[in-house]
Amino acid sequence: METVELFSAEGKGRGLKATKEQWAGDVIFAERAYAAVVFDSLTHLVCHTCFKRHEKLHRCGQCKFAHYCDRTCQKEGWAKHKSECSAVKKQGKAPNENIRLAAQILWRIEREGGGLTEGSLVSIDELQNHVEHFGDEEKKELRVDLESFLEFWPPNSKQFGMQYISHILGVINCNGFTLSDQRGLQAVGVGIFPNLCMVNHDCWPNCSVIFNNGKIELRALGKISPGEELTVSYVDFLNVGEDRRQQLKKQYYFDCTCQHCQKGIKDDLMLAVKEGGEKPSQETVKEIIQYSKDTLEKIDKARSEGVYHEVVKLCRECLAKQEAILGDTNIYLLRILSILSEVLSYLQHINEAAGCSKRMVDGYVKLYHPNNAQLGMALMRAGVTHWHAGLIEVGHEMLCKAYAVLLVTHGPSHPITKDLEAMRVQSEMELRMFQQNEFMYYKMREAALQNQKIQVMPEPTNEVSPGIFQKKQ
Ligand SMILES: [Zn+2]
Ligand SMILES: [Zn+2]
Ligand SMILES: [Zn+2]
Repeated sequence: METVELFSAEGKGRGLKATKEQWAGDVIFAERAYAAVVFDSLTHLVCHTCFKRHEKLHRCGQCKFAHYCDRTCQKEGWAKHKSECSAVKKQGKAPNENIRLAAQILWRIEREGGGLTEGSLVSIDELQNHVEHFGDEEKKELRVDLESFLEFWPPNSKQFGMQYISHILGVINCNGFTLSDQRGLQAVGVGIFPNLCMVNHDCWPNCSVIFNNGKIELRALGKISPGEELTVSYVDFLNVGEDRRQQLKKQYYFDCTCQHCQKGIKDDLMLAVKEGGEKPSQETVKEIIQYSKDTLEKIDKARSEGVYHEVVKLCRECLAKQEAILGDTNIYLLRILSILSEVLSYLQHINEAAGCSKRMVDGYVKLYHPNNAQLGMALMRAGVTHWHAGLIEVGHEMLCKAYAVLLVTHGPSHPITKDLEAMRVQSEMELRMFQQNEFMYYKMREAALQNQKIQVMPEPTNEVSPGIFQKKQ
């Protein structure tokens, strides 16, 4: 860890700063989880060692709870699973993910002691638990978790005091990092990465973090000078400053004092109203925003029930009303465009989907940091949609832009970046053909479409873009 050092960040407790110059895409450090578990809902779909998603997993014959890719992953996970295995077997069922993670941490402390592990700047004991900031509801949850933990924890394992177990549960509550599957598309588990916990938040950060091949990587988004504080964003930037601050306070117990919050940078764009013509009254704007919020709730419900035609109907209606009043970068309009383009491409209304995705990324480009991972992913989705729609020039350009972002935020070895590179190369070939002979290009495309089903987009997920740290809402 010679690239970073701990320091006392003014008003923010501890933080990390760079000791060496870094450039966009540099991996400042990589870190394995101190402990990590698969989410309750996915325990039979995701490998408990490497967190990859597979159709067919091997089940642990002892507890019938843990699942693995193969014998290799099972063997590798055995040291961590051994105690869990007998505890689950004894109880007849596994407790929830929080309890399982707390148990994994405490078994590791039992095995290795509670001090610093190799490559760590802080120990589990030194992480913040924020238990003193808990409200009544959270205190109640903590008591329930404590009870289930004590029920689960075997008498022949090392016994820890109530206060220490509360500390561990508190640490999990505010520092649990969300792990995604190998494609980076679905949140599959939660883990504790002590060094990452030391990286403070900024709404306009200089780093981002990605889970790749069993490790998290802290990657620089641009040039960072020695001595500069390293920051990541704990929340999605596409919320006005006040909303981001509220979310941060509620989930992470601090008041954001970053430049973007203090100066309200980009808030005006995020709440933009239509330009040209008569300026809509404040009352009208307030009404349409409330209407958008209500509609988004209905859309969420329809989407979670898989009633996609209803989603499309709601989006189109909302969009028609928004377009008369809101500007192109307004986040409520962009939210609708994002859902609509995703669902339309799933339903194979590919041309309308392409139009929506274009408007969406045009807005995103004006709002997001140029190397924001969400922006990169949105550009990729929009690029694929345009490509499928036969809009090869725009599609290829978007895929190239997406690739440039993902090289920084995900790195060249990440499976998504590799997929994207393959698509970029393929679309480049098609673009060349298109430029040489448009007629031939369309002929070829038609034939290809007739012979094979066009690649279907994945079913839209109802997942809210998660904060980086897993936190019960
Ligand atoms: Zn595996
Ligand atoms: Zn087992
Ligand atoms: Zn902020």
